[in-house]
Parts: sequence; C-alpha cells; structure tokens
Amino acid sequence: MNTSALPLPTNAAYHWPWHPSFGRLGDAFQRLCPPTPLAPSHWVACNHHLLTQLGLPAELWLSQDALDALSGNALLPGSTPRASVYSGHQFGVWAGQLGDGRAISLGEIDTLLGVQDIQLKGAGPTPYSRRGDGRAVLRSSIREFLASEAMYGLGIPTTRALCVTGSPTPVYREERETAAVVTRVAPSFVRFGHFEHFAANGQTQELRALADHVVQSHFPELLPLQDTARYCAMLQEVTRRTAGLMAQWQAVGFCHGVMNTDNMSVLGLTLDYGPFQFMDGFDPGHICNHSDTSGRYAYARQPQVAYWNLFCLGQALMPLIDGQEPVLAALETYKTLFPEALDQRMRAKLGLTDTHDGDRALVEALLQAMQQDRVDFTVLWRRLSHAVYESAHLNQAFEPVRDLFMHREVFDAWRIQYEARLGSADRRSVGQQMLRTNPKFILRNHLGEMAIRQAKAGDFGMVQALLNVLHSPYDEHPAHEGWAGLAPEWASSIEISCSS
Ligand code: AMP
Ligand code: MG
Repeated sequence: MNTSALPLPTNAAYHWPWHPSFGRLGDAFQRLCPPTPLAPSHWVACNHHLLTQLGLPAELWLSQDALDALSGNALLPGSTPRASVYSGHQFGVWAGQLGDGRAISLGEIDTLLGVQDIQLKGAGPTPYSRRGDGRAVLRSSIREFLASEAMYGLGIPTTRALCVTGSPTPVYREERETAAVVTRVAPSFVRFGHFEHFAANGQTQELRALADHVVQSHFPELLPLQDTARYCAMLQEVTRRTAGLMAQWQAVGFCHGVMNTDNMSVLGLTLDYGPFQFMDGFDPGHICNHSDTSGRYAYARQPQVAYWNLFCLGQALMPLIDGQEPVLAALETYKTLFPEALDQRMRAKLGLTDTHDGDRALVEALLQAMQQDRVDFTVLWRRLSHAVYESAHLNQAFEPVRDLFMHREVFDAWRIQYEARLGSADRRSVGQQMLRTNPKFILRNHLGEMAIRQAKAGDFGMVQALLNVLHSPYDEHPAHEGWAGLAPEWASSIEISCSS
C-alpha cells in the first residue's frame, strides 16, 4: 500500500479504525487503565516495515502526536486503554493472579494484517502491577523489539514490535537505568494463563466466554462445533500450533528462558521476550536465564515444558468439557506432532526433501558432534549450506565446516554418511534451498548488547541497522559480515536475568 499519497492526518482528525474484539469482553477480563505519562520522550527505533504491512498512514505514526501516544503521554482518539487479568504457573509452581502488570492495550484496530491489538509495554502501573513499577528499561525494550522482528524475519510465529520510545526518566533495577516503552502488535495477547485464571477462580461463565471469544476471533472454522467438541478442538489447535512453534525454536537454537504458562500464547506466537537467547555454541543443556538456577527452561527441555504447559491449559478447560478422555486425546497429539515437525525442520536444514529411516540418526550424530566441540549452531548450518552448494564443483568444499570441529575425524565420518544420503541430488539446488533455511544472521546476545550500549549513549543507529538485517536473515548483507561471525570471547560473560 502506498501511504505517501494519503493526506497527512492529525490525530484529532484521523478516524482510527478501532475494532474491539477482546476489548468487548467485560470487566471480569480487563480494567480500563490509562498509561502514565513519561515525559520527555523520544524515538529510539521505528519499524517502518511493519507500519507499511499494517497499512496505517506512515505520517500519522511518525508525528509528534504518535510519539506522545506511543510513550503513553497522550491518548489516541477513541482509544480505551486496558490491562487484562490472567494467572499462571511460574517455574512449575502455581503463582496465582498476575495480569498485565506493565502492558496496556490501547485497543484493537483493523489493519491490512487483520484486527491487531496495539499494546504499550512499560507504560506505567496497572491494577495488576502488584509491587512492580509498571515500567520497562531501555535495555530490555530494545531486546524485545529486535527479537520480535528477528523471529518474524526467520518466519517464526511471534508478536510484533512497532517501535521503541525512550525517556530519561529513571527506573531502578539492580542499578539506575532509564525508561522505555515498546509498542507490541499481535492479533491477540491471550495466554494460557488467561484460561487458568478463570478456571482457578471457579468462574466457568467467564471461562466459556473467553474460549468462545478465542474460537470466534481466531479459530472461526471451529464455530460449528458445540461444547465439548468445540473446546477440545480449540485445545487441539493450540497444541498443534505450540508443537510447530517448539520445532521452529529448536531448529534455530532459540531459548525462550521463561516458559511460564503466562508467557504462552494461545495463538502459538512467541511471546514475552525477556532473558531469551539465540544459542552460540551448541549445548542442549544451555540455560539462558541467569535466574533459572535449576535449568527448568534449558534449551533441550523446551519441548517438554511446552507439553507440561499444554496440560495446564487442558486442566483449565476441564469445566467446559465432558470427561477427561477428550482432553487427554487432544494433548496426546503433541507426542506425534512435535517430533514430526522437528524432523521436518531438521531434514530441511540438511537439504533433505524426502524421508528416509536413518534421517533422525543422521541429525542426532551431527548434533552430538557439535555438542562435543561446542560448535556454533548458526555458523555450522550456514557453512554446511555453502559447502553443499560448492561441492557441485569443489573437492574441498566441506573444509570450512570441518574447521569448526576439534574432533575432525568425527565430522569426517559424519560427512561420508551425509554425502551418501544426498546421493545424486543436484548440489547447487540443495545448497540454495539450505541457504534459504539456515539463517546467516540471528540476534546474538553480544549484538543486542552492542546496540544497547550505543543506545544508552544516545546513538540508536545500530538498533535500526540490526532491525534491517534481521528482517532478511537469509540474505548476505555484505556490509554487516561481522554480525554473522562467531560470538566474541566477552559474549560468554553476558548475564541476562529476569530483571527488565
Ligand atoms: P514476566 O516474567 O516479565 O512475563 O512477568 C511476570 C509478571 O510480572 C507479569 O504479570 C508482568 O506483568 C509482571 N511484571 C513484570 N515486571 C513488572 C513491572 N516492572 N511492573 C509491574 N509488573 C511487572
Ligand atoms: Mg510475561
């Protein structure tokens, strides 16, 4: 959509296409709650790509009015800001009521991407802030902004991020930092924890209204079903999406870090970026969250944790469902959906388009060799893609991959099996396919850290440049070759905790 031809509207004149969806649910679900001003504010980064995708007039969003609205200093005309209530299990323990403690939805609007909820994260206290200040710091806001869009660039379902605004207003964490607000965008921010909330409080009517809202707004194909059949089909759909999401996370080496049930989206979106990490050296036991002392959310445990979380959702839906059996049957599908989805992703990473019995063993053997030598996850797959492409005409094509291993004989043995499996497949086309599957760029911790340090010094250039690169992570971007390399020594000393 060419927005430049549109007249320049002011906030006062523009008719915002509000389209309340979750917002139509009653007071039991949310409270009206205006943002708390954060003056003086400034732009940190803006996602022009998303702006165009939404089809909203670019001029409108880049105005002073927009800066005011997206920092929480003014309300968009017609906006009904609200915070929603949810509960959840945190680190495997029932945590009771939580809710949007620092996220305020401005409302849902009709866009070219469908109805989207526009949410300010860090816009001040809400009725659910408990002891929190309702704020977010610049550091974590930049991380969320970049990570959301990195996931989008990788083709992984996620909430999106429209912009970050900042302010010199102090925010106190382990040390004094400054405040920022991320504007998040998603068709829905409904979490497993929303369902758990009403189930735990015995509010069956609200539980049903929430389930019907999700079906009507997001899974309309299930509307002809009634009662048990409808809610089980919904659970089945959430299970399917979650299984697919976990396969995608594992296939790019993404660790979420806080897979509590209140951070799980019923739409199967990656949600709530906190101490996440895209892994550097491959280690299945990798724990990215410094506060996760038991490693509950270690990389290799994520698929199992997702299944555990789905059980919490299933349990929460029980009051709407006749008998346990259909719930268990819906959940049971995870056990086949997830491995199938993961096998498919890993085969694609190896450039295999058909299925053979030994494929899983071939993948496992490579991962074991990578684990033994802590080989960089992203660099390995990218070099392998190039090697397959080059092997069409070069004898030594696999050398750059081999160089990543200390135990080179282990890689050599694996390569012989792999080449046998590739057989007579056209190496160039397989390699090209792999280069579209295995990204060159991921949001490594140290890249985020460098962008944050510059931003703290008032230079937002790297945030914007990283955003542009991460939007097309399979492209070469020769000007940013350094961002595709191995993590520097100092990267291993970066400690990311829940503090944000
Ligand atoms: P998280 O682990 O970031 O997903 O947060 C867990 C819960 O704590 C959610 O209910 C958040 O809204 C709430 N929360 C986190 N940080 C703050 C804060 N600074 N102020 C108020 N609530 C917060
Ligand atoms: Mg959360």
